Amino acid sequence: MSEKFIPIVDHRVNHRDSHRQHARLSIPAILEQPNGQVVDTFGRSLNDLRISVTDRCNFRCVYCMPKEVFDKNYLFLPQTSLLSFEEITRIAKIFVAHGVSKLRLTGGEPLLRKNIEKLVEMLRGLRTHDGQELDITLTTNGSLLARKAQSLKDAGLTRVTVSLDSLNEATFRQMNDVDFPVSDVLEGIDAAHQAGLGPIKVNMVVKAGLNDQEIVPMARYFQNSPHILRFIEYMDVGSSNGWRLDDIIPSSEIRQRLNDAGMSLLPIAANYASETAERWRYADDSGEIGFISSVTNSFCHDCSRARLSTEGKLYTCLFATEGHDLRALLRDQQSAHSDIAISSVVAQLWRARSDRYSELRSQNTVELSAPRKKIEMSYIGG
Ligand code: SAM
Ligand code: SF4
Ligand code: SF4
Repeated sequence: MSEKFIPIVDHRVNHRDSHRQHARLSIPAILEQPNGQVVDTFGRSLNDLRISVTDRCNFRCVYCMPKEVFDKNYLFLPQTSLLSFEEITRIAKIFVAHGVSKLRLTGGEPLLRKNIEKLVEMLRGLRTHDGQELDITLTTNGSLLARKAQSLKDAGLTRVTVSLDSLNEATFRQMNDVDFPVSDVLEGIDAAHQAGLGPIKVNMVVKAGLNDQEIVPMARYFQNSPHILRFIEYMDVGSSNGWRLDDIIPSSEIRQRLNDAGMSLLPIAANYASETAERWRYADDSGEIGFISSVTNSFCHDCSRARLSTEGKLYTCLFATEGHDLRALLRDQQSAHSDIAISSVVAQLWRARSDRYSELRSQNTVELSAPRKKIEMSYIGG
């Protein structure tokens, strides 16, 4: 593979940038009622909203929040910048009216947000355009899950996804970089299963030379279990992780390694068009396994995901460099905007969307080593 890389960058300066004045969104002259079917320039609908509820985390995963950047001097967002639960719910309702049926709470570490169950409960009250309940999921590093699984279920959470990069104690501690033990995450997975938050998806980011020796043990561990392990190709998100194309292990190679270890796999159909993971099953019917090939097999063509940052900026792509400040509309001191006014802005933004970063990257039409102010995963959510 080529030697493309993104150098480790101290993002503090860029982070301050995130407070700078962005172009104000303006309310269109003609307001429109949402009909649940807004589409972008490529005909992609808006089905999925990922909501980052905090930019803080108790882990310092080397591929996401490396310690040398996210240290004690790092400027995390002040409490007043965060969207309140009422504001999040109001925005979510507007997105749901445009077709969103799936909400994912993320971060940072979403379980660090105080009273997160209360937010789940508020979101649970929303209904899709045709009166259906929403799918409300949450992605967590699992550290607080054993404690919180039951209350999250009681509040109305549908499912959880747990990130786990290794079963090997030394490797896991090296990857989370805060000396957090594997056993506590495994306990969290068990507790979530007991609480009925399954099927639990377990996400493993694979970084060559760091945890790729854990591919086969992880697959063996979750084979014959009700949980679905998904391997994620390490991505060039943000500007802090020093990403190099050589750091990724392509999904095809992971499947080959599993096959060589006696685990042969067969592809299965996607649950829905915009699903990020390619679904496979063990040929001996011992369970399902997935691959998120964000680098080698981009899924931009069906991407129906929008992201709401912790401070209320809308990002229409994980790799977008600018967000649209919805919070400024919610908190406008000069005029109180109605839901229909904000909804009309959202419709306009989605209709103008033309993002397809991964597709362009795989066609080699974006220069990966060029300085490009990408947004950190911990700020925008995975
Ligand atoms: N803290 C929670 C967690 O780790 O599950 C939620 C937020 S985290 C940003 C969401 C997901 O993004 C995790 O599954 C994590 O492994 C993944 N992730 C973070 N940085 C990544 C990268 N550079 N490449 C691929 N996946 C990444
Ligand atoms: Fe925290 Fe999740 Fe990022 Fe790890 S991947 S540093 S747990 S936000
Ligand atoms: Fe969606 Fe952007 Fe990822 Fe493509 S690169 S799948 S448009 S988030």
